[in-house]
Amino acid sequence: MGHSGMSNSIAVIGAGSVGISSAIHLQQRGWRVTLVDRKAPASETSWGNAGVINPSSFVPLNNPDLHNSLGRYLRNTSGSLRFQKAHLLKQLPWVLGFLEASKTRRAQASSHALFMLTRQAVDEHRALMQRTGNAARFSETGWLKVFRNGGPERASQALTGFAGRMMHELGIDIEVLDRDALQAREPTLRPIFNSGYHLRAGGRVDNPGLLMREHAERFVADGGKLLHGDVSEIEEKQDSVSWTCEGELKSSDRVLLCAGPWSGDLLARAGYDVTLGVERGYHAHYELKGDVPAHSVHDVDGEYIVGPMTGGLRLTTGVELAPRDAPSDLSQLEQVEPRLFEAFDVTGRTDEPVWRGARPTLPDSVPVIGPAPRSDRLWVNFGHQHIGLMTGPVSGKLVAQLLSGEQADADMRAFAPSRWITRRRKARANSWLARRLRA
Ligand SMILES: Cc1cc2nc3c(=O)[nH]c(=O)nc-3n(C[C@H](O)[C@H](O)[C@H](O)COP(=O)(O)OP(=O)(O)OC[C@H]3O[C@@H](n4cnc5c(N)ncnc54)[C@H](O)[C@@H]3O)c2cc1C
Repeated sequence: MGHSGMSNSIAVIGAGSVGISSAIHLQQRGWRVTLVDRKAPASETSWGNAGVINPSSFVPLNNPDLHNSLGRYLRNTSGSLRFQKAHLLKQLPWVLGFLEASKTRRAQASSHALFMLTRQAVDEHRALMQRTGNAARFSETGWLKVFRNGGPERASQALTGFAGRMMHELGIDIEVLDRDALQAREPTLRPIFNSGYHLRAGGRVDNPGLLMREHAERFVADGGKLLHGDVSEIEEKQDSVSWTCEGELKSSDRVLLCAGPWSGDLLARAGYDVTLGVERGYHAHYELKGDVPAHSVHDVDGEYIVGPMTGGLRLTTGVELAPRDAPSDLSQLEQVEPRLFEAFDVTGRTDEPVWRGARPTLPDSVPVIGPAPRSDRLWVNFGHQHIGLMTGPVSGKLVAQLLSGEQADADMRAFAPSRWITRRRKARANSWLARRLRA
C-alpha cells in the first residue's frame, strides 16, 4: 500500500458502474470510502444499457468509418444517429473535438487507450462477481453482428474498414458466419439475415443495474459507507477536500468524482472547465413468443442492439445528440421497433416505460482517470461513453492503484485528465482588476 497512516478517507461521488467499482477497489486497498449518490446505486446510465461486456468494443464511434456515413447522418433521419441542430451549435467545441479525433491517427490512439480497458473487462467483472456472488448474471456468449443487406459478402466487407482492421491488429477473435451458420448460431433470429460475424470473447449480463447494485451492497456489507444525498459543492483545501451533501459540510482527504454525465456540473462548481458531451440513448423491453436468444445481437442495418434481460428482450437505440435533460424524443425507438419485429418473434413492448440515458463522452471518447489538473485532492474517473458498464471495474481498479501509489495495470498517460479539463483562474470577482473596478 502506497499511502499510510490516518490520511486515507475518500468520498466517491456517483454510484454508477464507475463509482461503485472505484469504491470497491479503494476499499480493498484500505481506504475509508464513502460512496455518495442522490439516487439508489446504479439508477442512472448504468441501469439501462445494453449489458454488453466485450473486449472488441474499443474502437470509438468517432473513427474514419464515420466519415463514410456522415452524409447519411447529416440528413438526420438515421436510426443510428440523430441530433438537435441548435444543440450541436451550442456544443460546437465538443462537436469539433469529436470530429477532429475521428482522424486516423487520433482514432488509432483512442482505440489503443480503450483497448487497455476493454481487454481487462471480463476478468475484472469476474473478480467483482466472484466476490459479490452474482456471477450467474454473466453469460460468456460473445456478441453477434448481423446484416440484412448486401449479400453473403457483407459481413467480411464490413470488417475491411478501420474498426475491422483495428480488431484484426489487436487480435480480436472474430468468426464470419454465412446465412446458415448464423441461423445455427442463433436460431431465434428470423431468417432475414444474409451474413454476420461473431465476436467470440466476452458476453452479456442479464441486468446491468442489479449487477452493479449488488456490488454496492457487498461494498456496504464489507464496511463501506453508502451516503444518500445530492452533492452541491466541492472545495479543495490545503490538506483536505470539503464537499457539501444536502446542505451539510463534509470533509475527506480525497474526493473522486465519478458522476458520469453530471461530472461537468460538479467540476464547474469546483473551478474547472471540461469539454464533456453526452450521447443519449433509449431502451424498451419486449415480450418474446418463442425461445430466448442466447446472444446479444447488433442488427447493423436495423440500427439497434438487442439482448435478453430479466425484464424481457431489451432493445437499445443508437445515439441522439441533444441536451442531457431535454425531454425524450421517441422517434428513433419508433423507427427501429418494427425492424425488431421483423428479426425476432416478439409479441410487443412490456408495460415498463421507455428508459433514457446519457452516455458521458469526451471528444476523443477516452475517459479521464486521475487527479484533476494541478490538484492532488480532487480526482476524476468519468467519460466512459458507450462502454462504461464493461470498463467501470477496470478504470475503478486503475484509479485505485494510482491513488494508492501502486504501479497501474495500464499506461495512464492515455487517460490524463488535462486532455479535457482545465483549471480556471481564481474567481474573477477577486481579481486585481475586478477589485480596482469595484473600488
Ligand atoms: C442506450 C445505452 C446503451 C449502452 N450499452 C452499453 C453496453 O452494452 N456496455 C457498456 O459497457 N456500456 C454501455 N453503455 C454505456 C454505459 O451505460 C455508461 O458508460 C456507464 O453507465 C457510465 O457509468 P457512470 O458510472 O460513469 O455513470 P452513471 O451510471 O450515470 O453514474 C453517475 C452517478 O452519479 C450520480 N450523481 C450525479 N451527480 C450527482 C450529485 N451532484 N450528487 C450525488 N450524486 C450524483 C448519479 O445519480 C448517478 O448514479 C450504454 C449506454 C446507453 C445510454
